[in-house]
Amino acid sequence: MQIKEPKTKVFTKNKEDFVCENCGFAVAGDGYRNHCPHCLISKHVDVNPGDRAESCGGLMHISDIAMDHGTLVFTYQCEKCGHLKKNKAHTEDSIDAITAKMKELGDKKQKPV
Ligand SMILES: [Zn+2]
Ligand SMILES: [Zn+2]
Repeated sequence: MQIKEPKTKVFTKNKEDFVCENCGFAVAGDGYRNHCPHCLISKHVDVNPGDRAESCGGLMHISDIAMDHGTLVFTYQCEKCGHLKKNKAHTEDSIDAITAKMKELGDKKQKPV
């Protein structure tokens, strides 16, 4: 049995799908994912994960990638307000995008000799 949810904004349930503003990829919402698996861009919409209580709405870019107990953790920085936020990698996240991002970050960290 399937019950269709009305298409109104309900702030306690956040399983809405969204379209990535950076690459246009249609992201299937699972209630807690908030970054695009394709280009890894996130959006500054949460105060606490999934609550969508933040009104900033700026795009968040990865500024650092770290490994925490075998899980990749992205550090996001909001391009609008500079807010920093950590986010675990999702199993569906594009490995190519992650690898490219790690390389980009690694290149940035390496000071020219
Ligand atoms: Zn994207
Ligand atoms: Zn922000």
